[in-house]
Amino acid sequence: MKKSLKMFAVSAVVGISSMFGGIAEAESVSSLKEQQNQVQKDRSNVKSDINKVDEQLNSLKDQQEDVKSEMQRIDFAIDDTHAKIREKTAKIEETKAEITRLQEEIKVTKERIDKRNELLKERARNYQVTGGMVSYLDVLMGAKDFSDFIGRASAVATIMQADQEILKQHEADKKSLEENQAKVEVELASVETMLNELEEMNQQLNAQREEKNQLLATLEKQEEEIHEHKMELQEEENLLAAQESAIQRAIQLEQERAAAAAAKAAAVAAAASSSSGNSTSGGELSAPSAPSAPVSSGAFTMPAPGTFTSGFGNRDSFRPGDFHYGIDIANRAGNVPIWAVADGVVIRSYYSSSYGNVVFIAHSVNGQTYTTVSAHMETRMVSAGDTVSKGQQIGIMGSTGDSTGKHLHFELHRGQWTASKGNAINPVGIVPMP
Ligand SMILES: [Zn+2]
Repeated sequence: MKKSLKMFAVSAVVGISSMFGGIAEAESVSSLKEQQNQVQKDRSNVKSDINKVDEQLNSLKDQQEDVKSEMQRIDFAIDDTHAKIREKTAKIEETKAEITRLQEEIKVTKERIDKRNELLKERARNYQVTGGMVSYLDVLMGAKDFSDFIGRASAVATIMQADQEILKQHEADKKSLEENQAKVEVELASVETMLNELEEMNQQLNAQREEKNQLLATLEKQEEEIHEHKMELQEEENLLAAQESAIQRAIQLEQERAAAAAAKAAAVAAAASSSSGNSTSGGELSAPSAPSAPVSSGAFTMPAPGTFTSGFGNRDSFRPGDFHYGIDIANRAGNVPIWAVADGVVIRSYYSSSYGNVVFIAHSVNGQTYTTVSAHMETRMVSAGDTVSKGQQIGIMGSTGDSTGKHLHFELHRGQWTASKGNAINPVGIVPMP
């Protein structure tokens, strides 16, 4: 038994006082009723704790729903951003193609201009070779009359102007193409900026998504922990309920004992008043129907036969701060009996993930109440509410629950068992050991 339930403490005292003592029954009954009230109070506290835990669980579920809807919103935003990134990327491709096309066109125009320039230069060279402008002048001077001169001059001017016009047009085309390219390059830069912004936004959204993921994981972990706490509270509630019925059973036993004592007293009085009284009738009446032998010191018997393998307290193999709240008795034999160490009432008999098959018994010895825990049993042979007598077999040794080998883990608590095991005491010196 290494693990212990934690986080809560049962404050109820299960005092099955004078349960088998048979002295001062009325007092015992009223003290038992007081203890029963205390247990009832504790139960209602635990129930209100369970309600609080339920509220916490609901609040956590709400928070989880909020986070999930936030995550959905982020997912939509990521989808949207991805669509925009695809759109801008396509736009960039398109714009780049447009720039390439414009550059090609500019190149062609430039070539055309260069060719034309070449042509004009060629023509100018020809003029120079043949006398250049002089040839023009020759043309002009060769005019027969003024009208012919005007015609010739006009023709020369037209040719020269046409050359200039073509050049101007080419320059204009080139300029327009360059302007277009500049415009498209500005557009490209703007789309690239938008794409960068979108990619940044996408990164932020992904970071937010990751944050929400972690938040959700934290909330789910909290829920798991609180749920575990709730199960512990329910376990505590079950134990308190069992203690309550164990006390109820003890009250009943006290009342039966009181009734039997009263009947005996009446019979003794009747026998005393009758001279012809039969001595055997007193003998019959003195035979008790319930175990009523006064429990004295030496009332305990050993919990099981075997070898004492581990004592109460810190153990070398234990982590610092860990504590062994009981003792261990091991036995390799088959069907090793586990015994009730004293008379008592079974509080609980059940399977626990830590204790395995376990039996809790409330005892009253010389006015002191004790709770014993016998854990890791293979089989339990008693049920909650049963009265047991010292030395009665309550189960068979086993290795169930959090156990590494066949042994009995036995705890002795002065008063009631609590989850913190604050009442655990060393049984050695009180309970005989093998
Ligand atoms: Zn142990």
